[in-house]
Amino acid sequence: DLGCISREALDQAITEQILQLRNALQTANRQLERRVQERTAELEAALQKLEAVNKLKSNIVANISHELRTPLTHIAGYLELMVTGDLGPLNEEQVRTVRVLIRSAERLERLIEDLILFSVTERGDVSLRLQPARLQDIFVTLVERIRQVASERKVNFEFICPPVVPIVELDAEKISWTVYQLLDNAVKFTPPNGAVRLQVENIDSFVQVSIQDTGIGIPAERFAEIFEPFYQLDGSSTRKYGGTGLGLALVKKIIEAHGSKIEVISTPGEGSIFRFRLKASPRAT
Ligand code: ADP
Repeated sequence: DLGCISREALDQAITEQILQLRNALQTANRQLERRVQERTAELEAALQKLEAVNKLKSNIVANISHELRTPLTHIAGYLELMVTGDLGPLNEEQVRTVRVLIRSAERLERLIEDLILFSVTERGDVSLRLQPARLQDIFVTLVERIRQVASERKVNFEFICPPVVPIVELDAEKISWTVYQLLDNAVKFTPPNGAVRLQVENIDSFVQVSIQDTGIGIPAERFAEIFEPFYQLDGSSTRKYGGTGLGLALVKKIIEAHGSKIEVISTPGEGSIFRFRLKASPRAT
């Protein structure tokens, strides 16, 4: 019985127990490490596969988009010949029909351009051609274009810009595309009688561009998702509003390539603001 165990024997028994436990712990640790290594290797392999699949996907998108462009150019070319009467006279109804076809072809062209741009940026970083520019100058054409789109949809559009805006180093083509994309969304997601505003502001050493609408808005928990490629808030919005879900993914990439970030502020049912800042060029004003 317990009373008979000598102190030495007890110490030894305890030491043995401790040693056994330590060994068991070491074995368990080694097993755990091995498992972590195995899982890490598995995950790495899966990640590599995923990257390969992604690359393949954007190559496919690139190839298909280029293939789509050629026949579409033919369609657009012949429609143009028809509507100008070069292929013989058309009656009024035929002219109207051909105009609808021309508009649809133009829309397809834009979607294909988006896809091509997307596949290019997906394969690597966005390459920029930076030049000093004044925002109000590069916005002239797109403001005219969006004014027309907005008035067709009975949406009020205004462009606000201070008389003096500092020069900014930017890729004019990509920034115009970005702002047009944001304005196009703003008009698209705003019901008739709503308003869309493009505003340029000087804030410290930055020029801020914001695109504001009084449209359907976006719930806060969706702010990150809408910048994912092919993401659209819901299936029904796809049918109701059209689009590819690529616009914002590209907008984000282009703005980030300029060393800035795109911000969104929105309240469902009230409207949204998308905005970004560009650093004023220190060389000139
Ligand atoms: P697309 O417009 O082609 O669907 P985008 O990438 O431009 O794709 O936008 C992704 C989604 O974000 C849209 O489908 C829409 O659900 C939402 N969204 C974008 N802009 C707005 C806006 N101004 N107001 C409300 N929802 C918007």
